[in-house]
Amino acid sequence: MSLFIRELLSPNFDSRPDVPIDTLILHYTGMKSAQDAIDRLRDPVARVSSHYVVDEDGAVFRLVPEERRAFHAGISHWRGHSLLNGRSIGIEIVNPGHEWGYCEFPVLQLAAVCDLCLEILARHPIPARNVVAHSDVAPDRKEDPGEKFDWHSLARNGVGLWPKCDSPSPCGLGPQGEREILDALSAIGYRTDLPLPVLLRAFQRHWRQEAITGEADEGTLARITAVRQLVADTR
Ligand SMILES: [Zn+2]
Repeated sequence: MSLFIRELLSPNFDSRPDVPIDTLILHYTGMKSAQDAIDRLRDPVARVSSHYVVDEDGAVFRLVPEERRAFHAGISHWRGHSLLNGRSIGIEIVNPGHEWGYCEFPVLQLAAVCDLCLEILARHPIPARNVVAHSDVAPDRKEDPGEKFDWHSLARNGVGLWPKCDSPSPCGLGPQGEREILDALSAIGYRTDLPLPVLLRAFQRHWRQEAITGEADEGTLARITAVRQLVADTR
C-alpha cells in the first residue's frame, strides 16, 4: 500500500538540470512548529523548499514534485558533486532542532520517513551511500537532522548505510594521522577542505551519535573504517 501524501504545493522550485536523481537528503525543519516550517517552505520570498515534509504524527506533505528542483540543500557537496539540489530529493522532518529544543523523533514520524524513503528509492537510482544528512553535505553550515535521528533503524529497513559492527575491535584500529582520516572521509563522500573537527562532528552526527566531539577518538576512527568499507562493498 502506498503512503498517503497530501499536496501543499510550494512556488519555490525550478527545472532540474539534465542529471540523474541519485541523492536523498534528510533535514529537520528547525522551527518552533510544523506550521511555521510549512509556511516558510511555501513562502515565495523565502525561496526555500523541499519535496516533502513529514510531521511529528507521520503525516506526509508534498511541496514540490520530484521531477522539479526544490531549494533545500544550498551550498553542498557529496562524492565529488556540488550544489546537490539538481540531483537530489529533499525531505524535511518536523523537529524544533538544536535552536528551539531538539527532541526525539516520534516512532510514527520515523516510520513515515522510512516508508517515504523506500518509495523514493524504488523510483530513482539512488545508491545507499547517497542517502545522507544535510549535515553530511554541508558540514560547516548545518547540523540537521542531527544526532537523535535514527539512521540505524532506517538502514535496518533498507534505507542508507549502517555498519554491522558496533564495537571498535572487529573493525580494526582505523586510519592513523590526519591525512589518512581525510582520505577515508573523502572515500565515504565528504568534502575534505574543511577543518578536521568540523568533518568529524558531521560524521559523528550520522554514524557515531553517542558523542559529538569532533575528536578522532578510537571509536570514531573504527566507525569511519567500517563505513568506508561498507561504502566500498556496496559500490
Ligand atoms: Zn537542512
